Amino acid sequence: MKYIYFLSILFFISCWSKPEEIIIEDPKVVLERAYDTLFVGKERYISDGFDFPVGKPNAKGYYNAQGFLTNHHLGDDWNGLGGGDTDIGLPIYSVSHGLVTYAGDAGEGWGNVIRVVHKLEGQGFFNYVESLYAHCDEITIEEGKFIRKGTKIGTIGNADGYYKAHLHFEMRHNVALPLGGGYAYDYEGYLNPTLFIEANRKIPMFN
Ligand SMILES: [Zn+2]
Repeated sequence: MKYIYFLSILFFISCWSKPEEIIIEDPKVVLERAYDTLFVGKERYISDGFDFPVGKPNAKGYYNAQGFLTNHHLGDDWNGLGGGDTDIGLPIYSVSHGLVTYAGDAGEGWGNVIRVVHKLEGQGFFNYVESLYAHCDEITIEEGKFIRKGTKIGTIGNADGYYKAHLHFEMRHNVALPLGGGYAYDYEGYLNPTLFIEANRKIPMFN
């Protein structure tokens, strides 16, 4: 009996002192590693700088109707200077070279959404950033395609009549975030798109 008692104590201690190690990797790290593989041999699609998603170049003819964090907004709302629906059907451009990771209808309130990841390769603060273009009238690019900066990827829309036409545009430095809701109190992982683009017109390694 004593022996069994001793064994059970020993068993308890061994379990207690050596807990099974469960390593949960950061989804962002896992995803970035997968993107590293996809970008092998695709050097011409590594980002060399950023421009605005409308009015190439420099958002000419457009204004930002609702900037980042205004009313807890997670992006910028780009509108044509003509106002209303005057910008419907006008082109949306990829803000930099990258890989299209999503292009499709994301449902009510979002409409057509395009998501592009941009590899920065550790230049500056991030290995990757993501750009997201929402409420598109048309999508003119396919998921899985590598694209160059300034490529037309879609057109400005109103999410099936949900809004007056505009481009809801987000940028994130956490490339593993879900689509989200466009507004939130927690903006961890998001970038101020305008500030980011202005600070990264040219990325030093390639210029
Ligand atoms: Zn918006």
